[in-house]
Amino acid sequence: MEITFLGTGSAIPTAKKNHVGTLISFADKNILVDCGEGIQRQFKIAEISPTKLTHILISHWHADHTLGIPGLLETLSMSEYQKKLVIIGPKGTKYNFSLFEKIYGKFRINYEIKEASSGKCLDDKLFMIETLPMKHAGLTNAYSIKIKDRLRIDKKKLKRFNLPNSPLIKDIQNGKDIVHPVTKKKIKAKSLTYLEKGKKITIIMDTLQNSNTVKIAKDADLLISEASFIEAQRDKADSYKHLTVKDAATIAKKAKAKKLALTHNSQRYGDDISPIINEAKSIFKNTIVPKDFDIISI
Ligand SMILES: [Zn+2]
Ligand SMILES: [Zn+2]
Repeated sequence: MEITFLGTGSAIPTAKKNHVGTLISFADKNILVDCGEGIQRQFKIAEISPTKLTHILISHWHADHTLGIPGLLETLSMSEYQKKLVIIGPKGTKYNFSLFEKIYGKFRINYEIKEASSGKCLDDKLFMIETLPMKHAGLTNAYSIKIKDRLRIDKKKLKRFNLPNSPLIKDIQNGKDIVHPVTKKKIKAKSLTYLEKGKKITIIMDTLQNSNTVKIAKDADLLISEASFIEAQRDKADSYKHLTVKDAATIAKKAKAKKLALTHNSQRYGDDISPIINEAKSIFKNTIVPKDFDIISI
């Protein structure tokens, strides 16, 4: 899984921090989580074509998370986008898209909107997406994207059996025992395969601390969390319904996440991330504060 931070800013963008947008890529999937204003240019600068997008997840309908949507969909319309774009967001997402189309005209792409509030919202062969409601202004979702465990063939072991390239290989991959076409010996799929553990990424955007944060982030390989303010501005975090850095680090610790990436940091901290990273690391060591265009792999 590769994660590209297209925007790491908060309510007001800065010269170096765009409104939020996080691209999660694996296999042929490219999932954009939130789509702030300016995301199209961020795609250009990152040299990623937005036509690669397969899914858009919307955490909530605040402007800093959604202003980029109509422009991005217009561009896809003009780019002969051929896929079916799956959009997942909280209740009200369908209505808001109908408003966009009322203002700008119909988007000329094939897209489907799923409204979700709790539980599994997508189950594909390769991966699944779950959501839980957060506590912010209006309906807000946090998401987990889970790549499923996969049965892989041990190529070294396979060689020893001298199997011809045939549909039998596919059967083994699917966990079926086979009979060798030449020796007629039974071969157990188990003896040729191993389980590749899946991966889990959780994204928690704007919210107050609540019991669902630890639940959704449980055992995540990577937790991407908003951390608008440091603890010294707790009053501001509470009144705007946001997490502090301490909150986010505590969620990562309690959920036993492996890594924490903090984003959506208030413009007041400018380019100096030291107060953020220091506060986080005192609670959860494996923390990063990505800049726009940073890419990480898990
Ligand atoms: Zn926000
Ligand atoms: Zn918000």
